[in-house]
Amino acid sequence: MHELSIVQSIIEIATREAENASARQVERIELEIGTLSGIEMNSFWFAWQHARQGSVLEHCEADISQPGGQATCLLCNQQYPIAHYTEPCPNCGSHFIDITQGKELRVKSITIS
Ligand SMILES: [Zn+2]
Repeated sequence: MHELSIVQSIIEIATREAENASARQVERIELEIGTLSGIEMNSFWFAWQHARQGSVLEHCEADISQPGGQATCLLCNQQYPIAHYTEPCPNCGSHFIDITQGKELRVKSITIS
């Protein structure tokens, strides 16, 4: 499961941060998961609930923001919201587009107790 390996990476990052701060628990973690990142949120939450048991994130509060997709057409410069990669430009129908937002997948901040 893709989401499980994502959660495991998040735990690795948090564990390293906690170790650097000589802490045993992370209080809060802020994540950014764009709607075009390919993460299925139900699977993510399932993996999150299970994988973090016994880790530094066990009692952690997750604050997740999900930036929506935004694209810019490379032919006519139209900017528009996009739900799927394959959506063409609504103005000229071009598929030559630049995804400018929505692919985010990152740890924004970690609060250690
Ligand atoms: Zn266009």
